[in-house]
Amino acid sequence: MQAFVMKELGEVGFAEKDKPDVGPNDARLRPTKGLVCTSDVHTVHGAIGERENLTLGHEMVGIVDAVGTEVEDFEAGDRVVVGAITPDWGSAAAQDGHSSQSNQALGGWKFANVKDGVFAEYVHVNEGDANLAHIPESVTDEEAAYVTDMMSTGFMGAENADIPVGGSVAVFAQGPVGLMATKGAALQGAGRIIAVETEPNRQELAREYGADDIVDFAEGDPVEQIMDLTDDEGVDSAIEALGRTETFEQCVKVTKPGGTISNVGYHGEGEYVNIPREEWGVGMAEKTINTGLCPGGRLRLQRLLRLLETERVDPTLMTSHEFPFEKTDEAFRLMETKEDDIIKPLINFE
Ligand code: ZN
Repeated sequence: MQAFVMKELGEVGFAEKDKPDVGPNDARLRPTKGLVCTSDVHTVHGAIGERENLTLGHEMVGIVDAVGTEVEDFEAGDRVVVGAITPDWGSAAAQDGHSSQSNQALGGWKFANVKDGVFAEYVHVNEGDANLAHIPESVTDEEAAYVTDMMSTGFMGAENADIPVGGSVAVFAQGPVGLMATKGAALQGAGRIIAVETEPNRQELAREYGADDIVDFAEGDPVEQIMDLTDDEGVDSAIEALGRTETFEQCVKVTKPGGTISNVGYHGEGEYVNIPREEWGVGMAEKTINTGLCPGGRLRLQRLLRLLETERVDPTLMTSHEFPFEKTDEAFRLMETKEDDIIKPLINFE
């Protein structure tokens, strides 16, 4: 079968691979739609170290091709979604309520990390009953592809931000995860959402997803702008959806004493992420910092699919480009350069 791979650090291309085998609890899928993620780009540029001929991608929906003998709730032909994160549900971390960290830090992240990813003609899924979900009839494959990571991660950003109903929140960066954090904050009843972004198309989408104010960091210090907007009070919660130490520091600075900073950004560079000492109340301002990796699992996927079924959110507004599977390299290049106002490129497998 054909797979789109990271050949080595900095190099991508197509490779011929064997169709994956299916263990007793596993499933094998035939992808129909996928989405390229900025973290695929980070991976190719060394964020997780060297890899050779590793199939890329972790956002995909498809049709079940085969299941193991112990899989009960899925069979060949079912239309399903699989989470970007596929935890080991029997691990101690999962039993402790931290399924994304199974067996080691970030251990639930398997696709395009510790095993081949989803940009291939066939894909292996561990623990099929726990990591797959059926797609409701009224939900399209394209919509469902967004629950795998963008909705799960972005909404987690809002959930971890402990936004009081009617409270204020600042969301730093309106890439696809930040946009879904904005939407998540709106769904959770935030009274005021301040989105930090400079790209006009992303600002427009942020408003579409519920932002009340846009802070353009190209027009001045975002901390000052947010303090001005809030009469120097700051916000109840801040969400970091970029993965830079400066934006993390800004989140701590704009959050009120007692507020919450929720990190969803992928901090792939530098040795440290800094906490500004004074605005942290010299360690005593009761500001909580929450972190998380995209939650996976069937229950999570089903809840997100319900939001699509009831039309509470339209994630397809983020689909800015489409490519056939054979042109995944072009989609990848655009994600790398962020040219042509790209937000999310959809991959059509058939
Ligand atoms: Zn992703």
